[in-house]
Amino acid sequence: MRIQLETVSASPGGRLPIAGEIDFGFVDLGRGQRFITPVGVQGAISKRADVLTLDYNARFTLLLSCDRCLAWVERDFEMNFSHVLTLLKPEEDSEAIFCPDGQLDMATLCVDDVLTSLPRRTLCHPDCKGLCPECGASLNSEDCGHRQQSGDRPDGDPRWAALKNLNLGDEN
Ligand SMILES: [Zn+2]
Ligand SMILES: [Zn+2]
Repeated sequence: MRIQLETVSASPGGRLPIAGEIDFGFVDLGRGQRFITPVGVQGAISKRADVLTLDYNARFTLLLSCDRCLAWVERDFEMNFSHVLTLLKPEEDSEAIFCPDGQLDMATLCVDDVLTSLPRRTLCHPDCKGLCPECGASLNSEDCGHRQQSGDRPDGDPRWAALKNLNLGDEN
């Protein structure tokens, strides 16, 4: 998805609408997590007082895995982005997007925008109980009968037993 920026000036009102789909199928989010739709992009490039501005909206669906219980979660996202575009090589501290040869590489920009805005953490539910450290059962759906301790510390590991009685002086 490449856009010739000279077409913006020629558009009515100096505004060029953009719409399309960008394939994110090659993006590996780790642990089998992936985009299960292309990223739908909708927006416009406007030119005002010689400044080119890109505003767009990206919509997509991800298949994610819960960080605590590993359950698969399908989640819809909608994100808005706004950039100033420049045809000249920008100063180092400028956030303007450089468009060499008067072309905006929309796909590359969108991949950058979306990947840097994804949440770092996924939970199937805000209070997901995670997995039993002894048997691996999901504690959201079953009570496996093992005694659970608060926190992420595996209860069943005997190496932790000595620590249980340790008074660190910052609790109780
Ligand atoms: Zn979960
Ligand atoms: Zn268990």
